[in-house]
Amino acid sequence: MVKSISFSYPPLESPKGTAFLSQNRQFQWTNTGNVIYPVIPAYAASLLQNKGFKIFWDDAIANKLTYQQWIAQLIKTKPDLVVIETKTPVIKRHWEIINQIKQKSLEIRNWDLVVVLMGDHVTALPQESIDNCKVDYVLVGGHYDFLLNELIELINSGHAPKNKIYKLQKPINLNILPIIDRKLTQWQLYAYNNTNYKYKPGSYIMSGRDCWWGRCTFCSWTTLFPGKNFHSFSVDHTIKEIENLVYNFGVKEVFDDSGTLPIGKWLNDLCNELIRRRLNKKVVLGCNMRFGALSQKEYSLMKQAGFRFILYGLESANQKTLDFVNKNEKTSYALDTLKMVKSVGLEPHVTVMIGYPHESLKQATKTLNLARYIFQNNLADSLQATIMIPYPGTPLYNYCQKNNLLLTKNWDDYDMRQSIIKSPIPPQKQQELVQNLFKGVITPKFIIKKIISIRSIADIQHLLNYAFKYIKKLKDFS
Ligand code: SF4
Repeated sequence: MVKSISFSYPPLESPKGTAFLSQNRQFQWTNTGNVIYPVIPAYAASLLQNKGFKIFWDDAIANKLTYQQWIAQLIKTKPDLVVIETKTPVIKRHWEIINQIKQKSLEIRNWDLVVVLMGDHVTALPQESIDNCKVDYVLVGGHYDFLLNELIELINSGHAPKNKIYKLQKPINLNILPIIDRKLTQWQLYAYNNTNYKYKPGSYIMSGRDCWWGRCTFCSWTTLFPGKNFHSFSVDHTIKEIENLVYNFGVKEVFDDSGTLPIGKWLNDLCNELIRRRLNKKVVLGCNMRFGALSQKEYSLMKQAGFRFILYGLESANQKTLDFVNKNEKTSYALDTLKMVKSVGLEPHVTVMIGYPHESLKQATKTLNLARYIFQNNLADSLQATIMIPYPGTPLYNYCQKNNLLLTKNWDDYDMRQSIIKSPIPPQKQQELVQNLFKGVITPKFIIKKIISIRSIADIQHLLNYAFKYIKKLKDFS
């Protein structure tokens, strides 16, 4: 009988840095110290607590516990069920940890531990984990809240599925979920160390699961949430989440981490409601958006409603590549959108990737040059370049496998430190390109321009924090 549940992120120690795992579409070992609030596990914890279960929020990574401290704590609390969110580069470590904690529970009297794994990797390859460790159940799909709720109901009614792979049985309605219990889920652990916040404390929400486009062939969360099954909370539910953060916890910046924020009437209603309730005077907002998705009028309304930070995936400056990864955007959308966004005072962040299967050095350089042009001409406030990794479950992974492009199937290597596919650009050169993203950009003229643009103490702190994290990030790719 399951009465107590631990939402666990066991410590993952590595000389490469700290595991940047929760709420992250692309896993990295990072030296930046960034942590992200795991929104869907937080919904699951809040839902199950409301149903009478005892919940342990056990993020040992964010709490900086050693493995020994974590094990000792787990033995002390003896939860009936431990659920672990995993990703490709750490799946093998999680198998080892699961075997160790299952063994411990056998050695300790009256501790009949059930272990559940969830995440994009196990959604793509559920049987692999069953074959490689003593996990009891593997959840397939990203609605961890509904999945866990259904699974535990079955376990407790004696109808636990014989097959250890568990998929959603019933249709879902996000609006029946409670407002997240931020105290239970230790929101303050994630409130400061995150470059998406200029104003702190900050926190995350997720109005949509996950992206209404949801078809880019490299995007790891399309494995969890294919775009054709996009769901969103009502505007009313989203407003309640924001009000809870503002009025009960004093949060000053909220980042909505839907893969792409819902648009159209939903966004219009959200903005008007933020203005009507004067939330725009109390909190600033951030979100992920697609180029070409919104008009000048909509960006103006977002600015008025309190939005500050908008994150875009430019991915590549080459139309052939955008078509190849099914981005469904034209390269011209980027500059047009960024001009609109900047004209109303929003602060865009742009990400690019290199290392696509057929992209030459010339094409990758074109992407990096466009990113530099954007940054230098103040069309984006921050930039990021990464090496493209095809994760299991994505159409791009299937393509690479079919065309014999994968250099390795050692999942440990899928950590964005180096390319894992055959590409016209050697892996080391790709790392060098990423490290040199800002080469030629940080000139004295540029620095003076940035200093002139400072308007407040928050601007100075944010700029310094960003520069500090950027230097740390270089270490991630070294
Ligand atoms: S637009 Fe972004 S979130 Fe949506 S599928 Fe593409 S990469 Fe993923």
